[in-house]
Amino acid sequence: MQLYNSLSHKKEDFKTNEPGKVNMYTCGPTVYHFAHIGNLRSYIMEDILEKYLRYSGYDVKRVMNITDVGHLSSDADTGEDKMVKGAKRENKTVMDIARFYTDAFFKDCEKLNIKKPDVVEPATNCIEEFIAMVQGLLEKDFAYIAGGNVYFDTSKLDEYYVFNKHDSEELMVGVRDGVEEDNNKRNKNDFVLWFTKSKFEEQALKWDSPWGVGYPGWHIECSAISLKHLGEYLDIHCGGIDNAFPHHTNEIAQSEAYIGHKWCNYWFHVLHLNTNSGKMSKSTGEFLTVSLLEEKGYNPLAYRFFCLQSHYRKSLVFSYENLDNAQGAFNKLLVKIAALKDDESEAIDENAVKELTEKFKAALDNDINTSLGVTVLYDVLKAKTNDKTKLFLLNDFDRVLSLSLLDEAKKLKESKKEEVSAPAADDDFSKYVEEQLALRAEAKKNKNWAEADRIRDELTQKGVKILDTPDGAKWSL
Ligand code: AMP
Ligand code: ZN
Repeated sequence: MQLYNSLSHKKEDFKTNEPGKVNMYTCGPTVYHFAHIGNLRSYIMEDILEKYLRYSGYDVKRVMNITDVGHLSSDADTGEDKMVKGAKRENKTVMDIARFYTDAFFKDCEKLNIKKPDVVEPATNCIEEFIAMVQGLLEKDFAYIAGGNVYFDTSKLDEYYVFNKHDSEELMVGVRDGVEEDNNKRNKNDFVLWFTKSKFEEQALKWDSPWGVGYPGWHIECSAISLKHLGEYLDIHCGGIDNAFPHHTNEIAQSEAYIGHKWCNYWFHVLHLNTNSGKMSKSTGEFLTVSLLEEKGYNPLAYRFFCLQSHYRKSLVFSYENLDNAQGAFNKLLVKIAALKDDESEAIDENAVKELTEKFKAALDNDINTSLGVTVLYDVLKAKTNDKTKLFLLNDFDRVLSLSLLDEAKKLKESKKEEVSAPAADDDFSKYVEEQLALRAEAKKNKNWAEADRIRDELTQKGVKILDTPDGAKWSL
């Protein structure tokens, strides 16, 4: 298998530290708000990577942190803790916010068929580990105390900008919300390991430490949690591209300074989901969540399908039109699958299995080329072989793609049956609904999404169930 490595900026043959075993770490969400579908693009693509490694026979251990303290509104250690901001916004405690949005995150993941990592560790569970690591860095003279905070001293490193061949714009997206000068820092790239004095007094969660009451910096969380659960040799570290700098750069700096050798071999970064007006975010434009897509009548798995149709190393533009196209294509695929007959008397065609599995593996072996992987699903449907073999292959590839192909096809079949047996509406009402659906189709054609949504909402209120299918919208009561 070949995997692109952000460290070398090349596709490399994938080799593990221990034969057959993969240690994999993923930066988890900052649980101050719902995840937007951009965040979830990263988790979908990381999920595919994990599942493909398992499909290829590796024993994978995947660890994810939950950032419930220390991630400030700028990734450059300034601004307010995002958790405190979230708590103020909702007039709740930080821990209430953390609990609520952690649950919400995993509910979204479930809807998108994203597997829960083997270990999920909230940062607030690991304060002892953070303190021990900061202590170790101070002892090794990689850290210093200034103005009450503990800082990592980047001037002690041979190389700091480990991902420096990235486009400078890509690197700077990590430093959001502006950067303020911190006069305690000896070098401009130094970063906080432990805060005791920050310019705001309202930090909700604080712990005792050898340097005074305070709280950890964001970067130390991932290093310490990874070392705790995966040891000193990490195979793959994942995250969205905005995390490459400064977050992952700082993780490498402090982890390698602490353990004294190379830490992680492969860095897997997912490019952003953007809107037509730039990077998707929680604070600007429409806050796009899985629930919002559902309210608008989209199947969350159609969003997963949309993500799989493009490569993780290309930025992807979200628009409702693009999602409509993906949902249409996904439905068409399901219609074809629903037409396959599972005939017990048929035998699996081993030659077809071999040929198509090789094709599927070649696609995924090539730096997780999911769009080619999806194409192989159509090759299966077109193959000159029996339906039983086709169903077997679709189910097998779905272990990686996780589109619930067979279940969704079954649901589609059942919804068609329901349509036939649904109660009949009187003629005038039917005429009204048909007219409204025609207006909605026209609005969609003209990209007038607000009007299309308004019509849908009005019909829903009147008890009309709408199902968007490849042959247009169908309705029932
Ligand atoms: P956060 O909750 O802000 O810590 O981010 C969670 C994950 O989403 C991280 O891996 C980010 O790099 C990633 N991420 C943030 N914005 C986007 C985006 N627009 N598209 C894809 N991934 C993103
Ligand atoms: Zn992280």
